[in-house]
Amino acid sequence: MANSKFEYVRNFETDDRCLPNTWIVVRVDGRGFHKFSEKHEFAKPNDKRSLDLMGKAAGRVMTEFKEICLAYGQSDEFSFVFKRDMDLHKRRASKLMTSVASIFTSAFVFHWPQFFDIPLKYPPSFDGRVVLYPSTQNLRDYLSWRQADCHINNLYNTAFWTLVLKGNLTNAEAEKRLCGTFANDKNEILFSEFGINYNNEPQLFRKGTVLVRDKKKKSEEELEGRLTKDILALNEDIIGDAFWNNHKILD
Ligand code: ATP
Ligand code: ATP
Ligand code: MG
Ligand code: MG
Ligand code: MG
Ligand code: MG
Repeated sequence: MANSKFEYVRNFETDDRCLPNTWIVVRVDGRGFHKFSEKHEFAKPNDKRSLDLMGKAAGRVMTEFKEICLAYGQSDEFSFVFKRDMDLHKRRASKLMTSVASIFTSAFVFHWPQFFDIPLKYPPSFDGRVVLYPSTQNLRDYLSWRQADCHINNLYNTAFWTLVLKGNLTNAEAEKRLCGTFANDKNEILFSEFGINYNNEPQLFRKGTVLVRDKKKKSEEELEGRLTKDILALNEDIIGDAFWNNHKILD
């Protein structure tokens, strides 16, 4: 055995094992993506290329970690849910969080040219955090919170960029126009002034992306459009019960 007098320093490492039998969520979020999206000429308010690339990178994380049962993403973030009874890396928070963030980031860079014509101007990065949810209801509420956030931001951004791009308002004027408005006011501005029915906007933008596993054997034809052979990307509502009754992921 390699025993040196220096080895005692290992005892300085702290135990960061996640509480057993709790849902472990790792969320990654793009660092400084407001600037990154401008520098890389993202379409406003929603660049589909980036959302698809985010989904691709998240699929790669799920391929590496079979213990992840579901992932949900919107904007520059993705949340990964580990099965509550899993014991990967002894449930050490830092191992799980840094591995997820690192695989996600490298996959985002690796697959960039498949989605974007312009080269990366600098290396993008993602931060990560771990949150534990003791009950399945807590976890459901967490995922609902992220999807509600997607909806609120997207409605605001859609109204804002419509006022700027189609209504010829300056950014400051559009911001002022929307200040203090409620959801139905924004829907009304979009509909009566621009003929846009917000509910007809793409589900990808309004609902975000949920990745689930589907191990049922599929024909080549059915596999088309899938992220991988056994990972399915959906743009469905995950706040109501229908999705969960359908997929039985958390049971
Ligand atoms: P932080 O480092 O604190 O996360 P940030 O600049 O990344 O800062 P966020 O709150 O994470 O701030 O917001 C991400 C921003 O990135 C959005 O507000 C938007 O400007 C931009 N963005 C992310 N994804 C897209 C996309 N698909 N299309 C257009 N813009 C996007
Ligand atoms: P883990 O995921 O647990 O870290 P690991 O396979 O990365 O597993 P490490 O203990 O980190 O195991 O050891 C890294 C291994 O990678 C080395 O044992 C060696 O085999 C290989 N390796 C790393 N860097 C080099 C290098 N510069 N040249 C040759 N081999 C290398
Ligand atoms: Mg942030
Ligand atoms: Mg960010
Ligand atoms: Mg974000
Ligand atoms: Mg190693």
